[in-house]
Amino acid sequence: MLKRHFDSEYKVLIKYYKIRGVGRKMLQFKKDDLYIEQVKLSDIAKEYGTSTYIYSKSQIVNNFENYKKALSLKEGLICFACKTNSNGAILKLLAELGAGADTTSGGEIYRCLKAGFDPSNIVYAGVGKTAEEIEYALKSKIFMFNVESFEELDAIDKIAGKIKVKAKIAFRVNPHVDPDTHSYIVTGKKGTKFGIPYEDAVNAYLTAKQKKNIVILGIHSHIGSQILDVGSFKLAAQKIKKVVDAVEKNGIKLEYINCGGGLGVEYTKKQKAPSPKQLMSELFPVFDADKKFIFEPGRSIIANAGHLLAKVIYKKVSGGKSFLITDAGMNDLIRPTLYEAYHEIIPVKKTDDKKVKTDVVGPICESGDFMGKDRMLSVVEQGGYLLITCAGAYGFAMSSEYNSRPLLAEVLIDGDKAVLIRKRATYEDLLLNEV
Ligand SMILES: *Cc1c(COP(=O)(O)O)cnc(C)c1O
Repeated sequence: MLKRHFDSEYKVLIKYYKIRGVGRKMLQFKKDDLYIEQVKLSDIAKEYGTSTYIYSKSQIVNNFENYKKALSLKEGLICFACKTNSNGAILKLLAELGAGADTTSGGEIYRCLKAGFDPSNIVYAGVGKTAEEIEYALKSKIFMFNVESFEELDAIDKIAGKIKVKAKIAFRVNPHVDPDTHSYIVTGKKGTKFGIPYEDAVNAYLTAKQKKNIVILGIHSHIGSQILDVGSFKLAAQKIKKVVDAVEKNGIKLEYINCGGGLGVEYTKKQKAPSPKQLMSELFPVFDADKKFIFEPGRSIIANAGHLLAKVIYKKVSGGKSFLITDAGMNDLIRPTLYEAYHEIIPVKKTDDKKVKTDVVGPICESGDFMGKDRMLSVVEQGGYLLITCAGAYGFAMSSEYNSRPLLAEVLIDGDKAVLIRKRATYEDLLLNEV
């Protein structure tokens, strides 16, 4: 009986907002109020203020378990790309679930160690690793470096020699494929700054073989982000396989195939995201059966588990357009501004009013400061709340104090419990390191 009640509510939600995949099960209306899991969002606003990032624990667990299950056919590791969301509570949760971490800086390695990741499950990519970062990573005994240039290889070899350890590496090889996604997040195309150019890959391995302090473990490629077409991953894998064959012919064994991250999520109802299982069932057969695999999902673990709750400060009509001005701005969520990204926006209170075409904008002094344009939204009054959905990845992580706006609070929901996992910053915090 209870279940049927929830199911019908859930259908109402789908029909009302035609949401697909946006944390579907974890986000639902009960009567007129929007809930994440069993917590009413207007209660979160009252308790913690706005704007606030809110995450669903069960959605995170669900997303990670899908990867883990899909990989269970092979040996390997799911390394959460922690640049997407590096809150310690979320990292700790993923570490406890058995995730490894994909890091891009010394700071991320530090956060991951603090959150309880086993260093032997941490991989480290990035085109500009400094000597200090390399030394820190080596001393922390991370699993491996994803090396992106010949000069970086030299640097790692030298520093490893200096502190008398061996550095385990894979080369990040740029397979020169061009997935269909925003140009700022394409990384595997010819002419981007990432990885060893495809034609130099074999030479890179031959060079590494001569280095005294380097141990070659595998090969890595990461072609971009928000990719919805499994075909791009497969094409990249087929090109990587050619490198693997050529390298192994030279007597260098590549134990690990790191396929990177980049799997897209459903920001709009038109998008259809492949599952980890679909992805892996395309990629596994490309390589020999004995290979171990690493995947580095970020967005597809955390995007649809997180949402930004904002308050409507004012309404106004200007130049024939309706605006809702919220307390969330581009400094809090920069994706719409930076990538012209679309986030579904849902009023937290359901009404029967007819819908009005509205721009949802922030308070910042930039025309690029918007959360959504030309949205058909039911009427929301001053003081009402909006949920900007699917904002868990590259949301808080890319936020700043621009316009001297303190960083936001973050809340993790687990069933009927809400836990504060980051305090809202204060005005004093704005001056913290000034001397
Ligand atoms: C950003 C990044 C990822 C994660 O990408 P998503 O699209 O968030 O899954 C994985 N690996 C590397 C090397 C990255 O830079």
